[in-house]
Amino acid sequence: MKKVISILLIFTLACLCAAPALAVTNTTAALTLSADKTTVSVNEIVTITVAVSENSKLGALEFSVDFDRSAFQYVDGSYTQDSLWASTVNPNHANGLYYSAATAGFITQGGTLVTFQLRALKPGSELTLSVIQATDGTTLDGEDVTQQVVANSTDSLKIACSHAGTMVETEYTAPTCTQDGERIYTCSVCGETSIEQIPASGHSFGEWEQTSAPTCTQDGMETRVCAACKATETRVLAATGHDYTAVVTAPTCTKQGYTTHTCSICGDSYTDEYKAALGHSYTAVVTAPTCTKDGFTTHTCTTCGDSYIDSIVPAMGHTAGEWAVTKEPTHTETGLRTQSCEVCGEVLATEEIDVLTGLVGDVNEDGMLNAIDARWALQTAADLRVLRYSTLADVNGDGTVSVVDARWILQAAAGLRTL
Ligand SMILES: [Zn+2]
Ligand SMILES: [Zn+2]
Ligand SMILES: [Zn+2]
Ligand SMILES: [Zn+2]
Ligand SMILES: [Zn+2]
Repeated sequence: MKKVISILLIFTLACLCAAPALAVTNTTAALTLSADKTTVSVNEIVTITVAVSENSKLGALEFSVDFDRSAFQYVDGSYTQDSLWASTVNPNHANGLYYSAATAGFITQGGTLVTFQLRALKPGSELTLSVIQATDGTTLDGEDVTQQVVANSTDSLKIACSHAGTMVETEYTAPTCTQDGERIYTCSVCGETSIEQIPASGHSFGEWEQTSAPTCTQDGMETRVCAACKATETRVLAATGHDYTAVVTAPTCTKQGYTTHTCSICGDSYTDEYKAALGHSYTAVVTAPTCTKDGFTTHTCTTCGDSYIDSIVPAMGHTAGEWAVTKEPTHTETGLRTQSCEVCGEVLATEEIDVLTGLVGDVNEDGMLNAIDARWALQTAADLRVLRYSTLADVNGDGTVSVVDARWILQAAAGLRTL
């Protein structure tokens, strides 16, 4: 810094005072270290160049290019020479290459100062340029021509390993379904490593399998398994919801109607849409009483057939009619008479009739047998007379009264026939 200040001071004074005989420039000399390649493999030759910026106007220069002898082997070199300065190179100086130059005036030229070839023994090493000393040039009169210094006292250059054919796989991590794998390569020369990523393979899921079936109201579940790592993935199967079918139950006389909704899948059911019971619709039929049975009214529902009986009327009882002869008595056989109900005809009583005790042929039952009895018989046969018993006139016992009976009675009355 002190040097820079003094340069500025001198420059300022130069401007304020009368211009000196020679122009003083303030360009900055710079030394640079370069190589013809940035990477090398073992035994490859690399050319190193040290150059100085144009018009450096240095009076003297001394620098070294240091390198590791186990990394590089000096092969050959050359350096620029000028009639105005003396220079020398020692490639075997200390740990590297040494260069020095000196002149009575100043180095007029710029560009390449030194070129040398190195054989790479162990690539990956660094070369360092170190300026040992640099002096401003002067005119031949001894006046400074510049306020020159070398700006960069050091420069460095790394000659990296090209890894040509020297990367060897030293580590392998297989990828999994979810994590990347990697291959690590290591350079057998310089030990540098590089990593190659192997993408994760992703799961190899099988088919979805139902692990729990969905019901009408509850979700089910499906699962699938990775064939490689056995990882599982699940997803929900939505509940299906009920599938109701409606069945209408109509109301009856006594029971309410309703609609039943039943799920065809799970059987769940509920009822709604209730309808009131209809009530019975009775019609009345009257059954009249008979002699022996009570009468009643039957109420029957025309809808459902339900029935009941009321308005009982007691049975009337039989009404006895006149006695009627059912078998007329004769002088040898008893007869029979019956009494029946006038209403229903049921036989209520039966009586035997005694045999006839009077004279046979005494039709009018006056105790005498004569022509009057014959005349009564004729009148009976002609339906002009009704006898107490027709058997009084049927003297021949043939079951009917006729003129033959009348004649037989006349013959008996005359003593010509015995009856
Ligand atoms: Zn390497
Ligand atoms: Zn997997
Ligand atoms: Zn259901
Ligand atoms: Zn009914
Ligand atoms: Zn009766």
